[in-house]
Amino acid sequence: MTTRRDLLLQAAMFSALPGLGFAQTRGLSLPLEPTPACGESRDATPRQTEGPFYTPRPPQTANLREPDMAGIPLRIGGLVLDRRCRPVGDVMVDVWQADAAGQYDNAGYRLRGHQFSDGDGRWRFETILPGVYPGRTRHIHVKLRPPRGDVLTTQLYFPDEPGNARDRIFDRRLLVQMGGDETAKIARYDFVLDVG
Ligand code: FE
Repeated sequence: MTTRRDLLLQAAMFSALPGLGFAQTRGLSLPLEPTPACGESRDATPRQTEGPFYTPRPPQTANLREPDMAGIPLRIGGLVLDRRCRPVGDVMVDVWQADAAGQYDNAGYRLRGHQFSDGDGRWRFETILPGVYPGRTRHIHVKLRPPRGDVLTTQLYFPDEPGNARDRIFDRRLLVQMGGDETAKIARYDFVLDVG
């Protein structure tokens, strides 16, 4: 069920933000450039390892950022598309990440949650920029469960990170588009599922 709060969050994710470029994607006004632009590539989003820290059945929420949480606020979202660049709704988007100190909550569900892409294929979370931990560059883990088809497990990366060049599984096809400043960040990634 879509609540008023959901609608407000959605409006905030996809409304104009000062100082950020805009791209028109199939009539939707979204912050930042699409990743990848439709027509440029129809390759499915690359899969990556789940890693050791996934906890099944995270809560359904679009807001992972708690009021007292350390770290730079990050609003991350985008579209879920098929290989013909059509939006895919009702996809469970499940994310998990380290906190600002590079720690995962492996006892509870802090910085873990899921929600569903809407009828226009849009997804979004309010979170923080994940911290870095030894051996990896900065990243967010994600699983997409479409109503039909295979689960996509992958990771998203951030541009201009010194750790990207040293990370063995880093893939530039999984880089988000980044905007904002030192006090708040916004990131966009458009997933392409191997359907359609
Ligand atoms: Fe990780």
